[in-house]
Amino acid sequence: MHSSLVSKIDKAHRYASEPERIELGQISATFHGSHDDYRVALESGVWTCSCHTASAQTLGGVCSHIMALQQVLDPVLLQSDKYWAERDRPV
Ligand SMILES: [Zn+2]
Repeated sequence: MHSSLVSKIDKAHRYASEPERIELGQISATFHGSHDDYRVALESGVWTCSCHTASAQTLGGVCSHIMALQQVLDPVLLQSDKYWAERDRPV
């Protein structure tokens, strides 16, 4: 394997172990829920989901899909893009 490719792969592994280097600004994802697929997005600091719970705004626009995605992406989300934190979890 080409030595410069090897060094890039090594650097990528090191970067991957340092998620604080990444600030995820926007995402678009398909979330496979228990009953249907939903489109979850983060754009300009606003989370949206195509499910009924999020669109009905009964919980301030948040839903289990957004919460789950925030937990998965927590290491690379800006603090301001986190609605859901462990401290908010009901006990
Ligand atoms: Zn949802």
